[in-house]
Amino acid sequence: MRGGHPGPWLLLRRLREVMAEPVDAQERLDKIVVLIAANMVAEVCSVYVLREHGVLELCATQGLKQEAVHTSKLRIGKGLVGLIAELAEPLNLPNAQEHPSFAYLPETGEEIYQSFLGVPILRGGHTLGVLVVQNRVKRTYSEEEVEALQTTAMMVAELFASGELDIDAAPDIDIRHLRSHHLTGAALSDALGLGHAVFHEPRIVVRNLIAEDVEYEQKRLGEALDRLRASIDSMLARGDMAGAGEHRDVLDAYRMFAHDRGWTKRLREAVSTGLTAEAAVERVQNDYRARMMRQTDPYLRERLHDLDDLGNRLQRELVGAPNVSRSDLPKDSIIIARTMGPAELLDYDRERIRGLVLEEGSATSHVAVVAKALGIAAVGQIERALDLIDESDPIIVDGQTGDVHIRPAADVEAAYVEKVRFRARRQAQYDKDRDLPAISKDGTPVALLVNAGLLVDLPHLRESGADGIGLFRTELQFMLATNLPRVREQERVYAQVLDVAAGRPVTFRSLDVGGDKVLPYLRSPREENPALGWRAIRLALDRPGLLRIQARALMRAAAKRDLRLMFPMVSDVTEFRDARAVIEREKAYLVHHGYALPETVTLGAMIEVPAVLFELDALLEEVDFISVGSNDLVQFMFAADRGNPRLNARFDTLSISVLRALANIVEKADATNVPVTLCGEMASRPLEAMALIGLGYRSISMTPAAVAPVKAMVRETNIDVLQAEMADLMKDAGTGSLRSRLLDFARQNDIPV
Ligand code: PEP
Ligand code: MG
Repeated sequence: MRGGHPGPWLLLRRLREVMAEPVDAQERLDKIVVLIAANMVAEVCSVYVLREHGVLELCATQGLKQEAVHTSKLRIGKGLVGLIAELAEPLNLPNAQEHPSFAYLPETGEEIYQSFLGVPILRGGHTLGVLVVQNRVKRTYSEEEVEALQTTAMMVAELFASGELDIDAAPDIDIRHLRSHHLTGAALSDALGLGHAVFHEPRIVVRNLIAEDVEYEQKRLGEALDRLRASIDSMLARGDMAGAGEHRDVLDAYRMFAHDRGWTKRLREAVSTGLTAEAAVERVQNDYRARMMRQTDPYLRERLHDLDDLGNRLQRELVGAPNVSRSDLPKDSIIIARTMGPAELLDYDRERIRGLVLEEGSATSHVAVVAKALGIAAVGQIERALDLIDESDPIIVDGQTGDVHIRPAADVEAAYVEKVRFRARRQAQYDKDRDLPAISKDGTPVALLVNAGLLVDLPHLRESGADGIGLFRTELQFMLATNLPRVREQERVYAQVLDVAAGRPVTFRSLDVGGDKVLPYLRSPREENPALGWRAIRLALDRPGLLRIQARALMRAAAKRDLRLMFPMVSDVTEFRDARAVIEREKAYLVHHGYALPETVTLGAMIEVPAVLFELDALLEEVDFISVGSNDLVQFMFAADRGNPRLNARFDTLSISVLRALANIVEKADATNVPVTLCGEMASRPLEAMALIGLGYRSISMTPAAVAPVKAMVRETNIDVLQAEMADLMKDAGTGSLRSRLLDFARQNDIPV
C-alpha cells in the first residue's frame, strides 16, 4: 500500500475485483456485503435499495437472516434505515434499539446487535439506498469508520448507476433515475420542444475512483484548487462575468468558498481515504447536494448551489475539460442548466436546440427574452433539474404551460407528438392569414406591432405580418456586449432595424438598464431594491453621456427617415422634459457637425410608474406619444415583483384596478389626440388583448408569436358590442378580476382567445 494511508483503500480494490467477476447481480451484491463486513470488522453488513414509492428493501446481507432478503422493507422516514434515507445523513449509534426511530423487524434477527452505523448510498444528491453495518457490542464507530463506510457507499452507488451491476438481472433494484418525472415550472418561451438532454455544463463522470498513489492525488487536488482560485480571481479582476450572466455576487461567493478551509479540508480527507482527487470532489459534493435537497432557507440553498457549481468547476480543472464544445451538439438538444446568460444561449447552434430547462430563470429574465426571440421552448424554475435529469435523457419541454417531462412514458410522448402536429397545422393556418388585415368584424383597424430587441428578432417582423415594431428594447444589445457599444456599432444596429422595417414604424426605447438588467461593464452601486432603484431614465439623466451617445447613434441611423424614441420609467413631467433637452442638445451637435438629421424625431414616454398616472394631463401636453409598459405598471401597482413566481397567480392583470388605470390612460390620450400603444406582455395574450381593445386601445405591441392569434381574435370581434360589454362590466364590477366574465363573453361571441 503506497502512501501509508488508512481507510478503505484495500476494500475498494477488492470491491473492484468483485465487480470484474462474471457473476450475476445478486451474487455480486452478496459478495460485496461479505467484503465490507470483513473490512469493517462488523458482524452485519446490509444493503437496502430504494425502490418505487419510497420503499427501502433489504437486498443483500451478511449477518442478518437470509430469509429477510427481499422481504424486509421500510418506508423512507421509517425505522433507522428510512431515517438515513430521508435525511441523507449517516447515523452512528452505540445502541440502536434505544433510538426513537428504531423499528423492530423480527424476520431479520437483528435484536442481538446493539451498535449500528448506516450511511446513505448517494449519487448526484439522490439517495439510491442505505448501507449498514452492525455489531453485537455496544460501541461508537470512529469518525474514520464513518468516512470509510461513506466512501464505500459511494463505490456501491457507482456500481448501481454505472450499469456495471447488471440492473436487469436484479429486478429488485430500482433506481430513481430510470423513472419518468413530470415537473411544472415557469413558462418562459412558448414553444414545444422534444429532444434529448444536453448539460450546459456537463457533469464529469468519475470513472476512476481508487487512488493508486495518495500523495500524488493530494498534489493533483492542491494544484487544481490553485488553478480554480486563480481563475476566479482573474474573472473578478477583469470584471468579467464569465459571459454566464453571473453576478458579481456569485463570483464573490465562489471566491469565498474556494478559500474556505472547511471545504478544502473535507476534500483532502476524502483523498486520504484512498480516493482519486476527482472521486474525492464527488464524494464531498454528494454530501453538499444531500444537504441542499433538505435545505428550505432559499439563501442557504443558493449558497449550497454555488458550492456545487464550484465543485463542478474544480472537477473540470482536474479532468482538464474546462470548456464545453458547443459545435458538436446533437440535433434535437434540450439544454439543461441551472442558469444561463443570454449570450450563452446565443452561442449554441440554434438549429439544433429544441428546448431549454433551467433551475432558475423567470419569464422576464433575459435568457427568456432571447429564447423567445429564437423560438426555443423554455421553462424555468424546475427545481433539481440537474439532479433528476441524466445526459441524453428524453425530455419534453412545453413552454406554454411550463411543463417538463423527463423520460416521458410512451403515451405522454405520443400526446405531445400529436400536439406538435396540431401546432404545425395551426401555424400553417396563421401563415395563410398573415397578410389579412387586423380589422374587427365591425370594421375598426387595430395596429398590431411586435416587441423586439435583437437582430435575430428582425425576421419576425415580416414573418408575423405585424404593422411595425412597437418596442425595440435597445438594452439587449448592450447586455450581450462585453464592452459599451460605441456610437458606430450602435448606429449600425439601429440602421439595420430601420432597414428591415422598411418604412413601417419602429419605436426605439432608450437604454432601460439597471434593476435586473445589468451591464457587466457599467459599474453601478449595490442596491437593496434594484427594481425601485437607479435605473432607466433616472440613470440616463444622471449620466447623460450614455443617453447622448445613444441619441447620436439613433439620429445618425435614422438620417432622412423617421425616428421614434421613448424613455422608460418616466415618473414625472420634468424627467421627460430633461430627457428631451438631452436629445435637443444632441440634435444641435449633429447639425453643427454637418450630419443629416432624421426627417422627424418623435419623442414619447413610457407609462409604467404609477405616479405619472396622476400627472398624465401635464405629461400629455408635452409628449408626442405614450406607450404603456404594463409589465412594470402592474408590478408597481400591486407592489409585487414581476419576476417572483409565487406572486404571479395572486395578482391578475385583468383585475378591475388595473383595467381602470388602463382605461384612464387611453381615455386621456384620446381626448388630447396623443397616440397611445400598450407594449407589455399582456398584449400577447388574446383574452387580455381583447380587454385592451374593449377599453379603447387601438395599437398594441407583443411578442411576435402572438400576432397571429391576436389577429384572429380581432377579426372575430365586434368592437362596438365588446366596448358596451366592457363598460357595463367595469361599472358593476365591485372588486376582483374580470377574467372569467371576459372569457364568458368571448365564448358567447365565438371569439378565439
Ligand atoms: C413593460 O414594463 O411593460 C415593458 C414593456 O418594458 P420591459 O418589460 O422591458 O420592462
Ligand atoms: Mg418596463
